[in-house]
Amino acid sequence: MTAQLIDGNALSKQLRTQVAADTAALKAKGLTPGLAVVLVGDNPASQVYVRNKVKACEDAGLHSVLEKYEADMTEADLLARVEALNNDPAIHGILVQLPLPAHIDAQKVIEAISPAKDVDGFHIASAGALMTGMPGFWPCTPYGCMKMLESIGYDLKGKHAVVIGRSNIVGKPMALMLLQKDATVTVAHSRTQNLKALTLQADVIVAAVGKRNVLTADMVKPGAVVLDVGMNRNDEGKLCGDVDFDGVKEVAGYITPVPGGVGPMTITMLLVNTLESAQRALSEKH
Ligand code: NAP
Repeated sequence: MTAQLIDGNALSKQLRTQVAADTAALKAKGLTPGLAVVLVGDNPASQVYVRNKVKACEDAGLHSVLEKYEADMTEADLLARVEALNNDPAIHGILVQLPLPAHIDAQKVIEAISPAKDVDGFHIASAGALMTGMPGFWPCTPYGCMKMLESIGYDLKGKHAVVIGRSNIVGKPMALMLLQKDATVTVAHSRTQNLKALTLQADVIVAAVGKRNVLTADMVKPGAVVLDVGMNRNDEGKLCGDVDFDGVKEVAGYITPVPGGVGPMTITMLLVNTLESAQRALSEKH
């Protein structure tokens, strides 16, 4: 069996076209959705990420502001910038690119972002909203995975989903989103014993670890849906995921590639969240 590919680039294109249309409609009502991206320091990977985020905004017609600061910026100055953006009516989403320099308490900065503008979904209020099923912003990467499942018309009700990884930004919110759609969810992590016994029972597997070949063909039930969040480099320096793609694609029913899978969906969901924040701001005004 050869798995069907869930193409993150194609799905992103479709969703971004919709974001652009909804943005144009909002602009016609006098409101331009705005995203502020804050980068502190010169981490090369972060520079690429923020450039891509700003470009994606521009392409979809959103207003975007990139604020770059030196690595020695003080925590107090960064908190003051966040506060200014919280009060800026042209900004509907605030993203502080992580990691921050070691002298800045990242959690403190995230908690300083207004939950109404927390389009990354990392604020404790956003996490609480997700846990309790209240309105709030969902973290973009697991949200993108949910959109991928939706795109293939997958009904999670009663299905067994195994999430490998329990980080606050991917694994845990992923598990909650799957649970909200009535899946039975198992969360595995570095201390999990006999991962293979769990994944072999899974109808859906989400790998979010950051290690190559965490999931191999012998660990997958025929026909399962496999979503690969991981971003690693192989021996040739090429981008690869956590899943042994060539092996697993012969067993799975659906699979996401790396690159071109979950990655582009993450930025797309950032646009979706920013647009939604602007739509909420407009409806609150009326
Ligand atoms: P993280 O914070 O390092 O979390 C990794 C998780 O994997 C931890 O919960 C860890 O368990 C678990 N783990 C480690 N080794 C394991 C093993 N052998 N078996 C089972 N679980 C194991 O990473 P993250 O931020 O969630 O990111 C995970 C991966 O996704 C990374 O490659 C990252 O680059 C990628 N990512 C991609 C996107 C995207 O847009 N495509 C976005 C975010 C992240 P413990 O909790 O026990 O340590």
